[in-house]
Amino acid sequence: MKRTCVAITGLGSNPDMFARRALQKFANFAAQQRRDVTTIVMGPPGGGKGTISKRMIKDYGYLHISTGDILRQHVRDKTPLGEKAAAFMNSGALVPDQLVIQMVLDELSKHKAEHVLFDGFPRTKAQADELDKHIKIDIALNLEVPTEEIVSRISGRWTHPASGRVYAYDFNPPKVPGKDDVTGEPLIQRDDDKPEAVRKRLATYAEQTAPLIKHYDDKGVLKSFTGDNKPDLVAAGRRSDAIYEAVKQVLDPLHKK
Ligand code: AMP
Repeated sequence: MKRTCVAITGLGSNPDMFARRALQKFANFAAQQRRDVTTIVMGPPGGGKGTISKRMIKDYGYLHISTGDILRQHVRDKTPLGEKAAAFMNSGALVPDQLVIQMVLDELSKHKAEHVLFDGFPRTKAQADELDKHIKIDIALNLEVPTEEIVSRISGRWTHPASGRVYAYDFNPPKVPGKDDVTGEPLIQRDDDKPEAVRKRLATYAEQTAPLIKHYDDKGVLKSFTGDNKPDLVAAGRRSDAIYEAVKQVLDPLHKK
């Protein structure tokens, strides 16, 4: 109702321009109405974000927009964007904001989903500011997992380079230590899974995320989760399960509105 009033008072000497603006406003408004709950999930690499996202998609039917996954697909398909992005991704740097923002907007325009889950986006304050212009964020979930837990989890991870099969020594070890189950070939530890590299990736993550945490906290939509709500699950090595229980308590009421 309020929007209609604003439009009518804006009617001036250029009715065409007025009509275009009103239509654009209406289109923006309609696009926002279509998407019921828009959620961002932030969490350190190896902190269980993937597991939690999968459960959210299953329980609430989110459209999952993972910029890392979409970028990797562009690289595999050798699209012009993929060719530009590859060098940044290979060196562990962020892909420039403009490329990522355009890619996300293109992705959004392809779907009519009610609920959208952004994963790995935004990564910078500029991306967050731009996203705010297009969609209202209902909630930003921030997963907090102690560095040493992640270091030990990731550094227990071994890979079979030819197939990409991954083994974790604590919960899905290979049948023969150091050997791939299918081919018997040796497993390797990826350089970026070694403890020092993991600590470095985590420090970079913390540095990049700090301004985003403030951004969403200032907007009153930030919720942080540690899993400390269920110490028994954490002690049993199931921090993601503990976190998800708390996440559900926040998401259930939003989705019932
Ligand atoms: P991820 O799988 O989310 O860790 O992303 C893998 C790589 O894709 C990152 O190291 C970046 O190079 C790039 N990337 C993913 N999301 C973004 C983003 N929002 N902004 C810039 N670069 C990104």
